Amino acid sequence: MRAVDLIQKKRDGIPLSSMEITNFLTMYLDGKVPDYQMSAFMMAVYFNGMTDEELFAFTENMMNSGDTIPLGDSKHFMIDKHSTGGVGDKITIALAPLLACFDIGTAKLSGKGLGHTGGTIDKLESIPGFSFPETQADLMQLIEKTGIGIMGYSDSIVPLDKQLYSLRDVTATVPSIPLIASSIMSKKLAIGADGIILDIKVGHGAFMKTEEEAKTLAATMMRIGKHFKRNITAVLSGMEQPLGFSVGNSLEIVEAIETLKGFGPTDFKELLLLIAGNALMMKGIADNLPEAISMVSEKIATDEPLNNLKSFIQACGGNPNIVDDYKLLPIAQNTRSLHSVNSGYVHEILAEDIGKAAMILGAGRATKDDQIDHGVGVVLRKKVGDHVNENELLATFYFNDDKQLKEAEKLVLNAYRIQQNETGAPSTIKDIIYE
Ligand code: URA
Repeated sequence: MRAVDLIQKKRDGIPLSSMEITNFLTMYLDGKVPDYQMSAFMMAVYFNGMTDEELFAFTENMMNSGDTIPLGDSKHFMIDKHSTGGVGDKITIALAPLLACFDIGTAKLSGKGLGHTGGTIDKLESIPGFSFPETQADLMQLIEKTGIGIMGYSDSIVPLDKQLYSLRDVTATVPSIPLIASSIMSKKLAIGADGIILDIKVGHGAFMKTEEEAKTLAATMMRIGKHFKRNITAVLSGMEQPLGFSVGNSLEIVEAIETLKGFGPTDFKELLLLIAGNALMMKGIADNLPEAISMVSEKIATDEPLNNLKSFIQACGGNPNIVDDYKLLPIAQNTRSLHSVNSGYVHEILAEDIGKAAMILGAGRATKDDQIDHGVGVVLRKKVGDHVNENELLATFYFNDDKQLKEAEKLVLNAYRIQQNETGAPSTIKDIIYE
């Protein structure tokens, strides 16, 4: 069948067989379907969705478009935790050393930050000397040595996703649940972890703006996981404010370490414990979630996770002493305080605008080739539910160049939604979905 006939079927809501999906994607990879036909196909998917047969075939073809990392030889039980992208999300940095205490390895391909969301790669690269493994063999060696395997996405893993994502970006077809689900899951399936934990962010600054959308995305990804016989759990977590207080690379490293020392922000700690607890459940070393969470909490009070983090940093060529001495991190020396112009209760802190403020100070990239400054960012001093007085401190900026400081101040001031009526702190965890 010609590409145009398959596009027509999809446009008219006639389900395609898995063979037809495979043929279409194979023709695309062979250069026989041009980008304009693929764009038309994805727009048809945007409007008509996908049947499960189409979804599974689409995901499988994406996964098999490049290298896979089977992890079969690892002696550890391996977890791949994935966040759909939020502001202030430094979970991986605290989670991986914590899980290593239970002989649970982390296998994870991470991204660089783009736009208002940060990336784990940038955060860890703020540690002096730190560099990620570049080959699969190096990644496996790192996992066996430290129990922690994190590496950047390479062009050889799910290359089809990279091509399709660039097209989606310029054809307004990014926000399609089947396209998002297959894009994320193809990358998860390409890595052979024993368990996958999805952290689906909901709210301002997240891909999914409502809980309903987030639940549909979770259910779609879970169906893919189940079809490919993978153990998968999804957590829905709130983005009605950034996670924790700090947004910016070195600043987030400090907050993750402080959390492992027992001093972390409540919302960050709650999500960390929940995700770690679910990993223990997947490994089968706790009978129920409360027991798993208390096992993880007990570990936080010990030196073990910090020692695991130090070993990981050292194995990646970084300076492990940053764990005990934050002055070794490149934190910007200039600070500016932002004060509230009115009094009341903080109802919301628009996460996307806080992310943008950190980005324009230099913490993130507007385009993928931008250079970033690891030392800059924003530290929030008030969170949702807090009372604030007029002139009270709302946030602190860390900056090296004051060119964009005014704009960042405007964004953060506007991000704080302050009202007269009292509001409680929102629940960080909106839902947990098991197979
Ligand atoms: N993250 C991905 O990897 N893919 C999407 O389509 C959206 C978010």
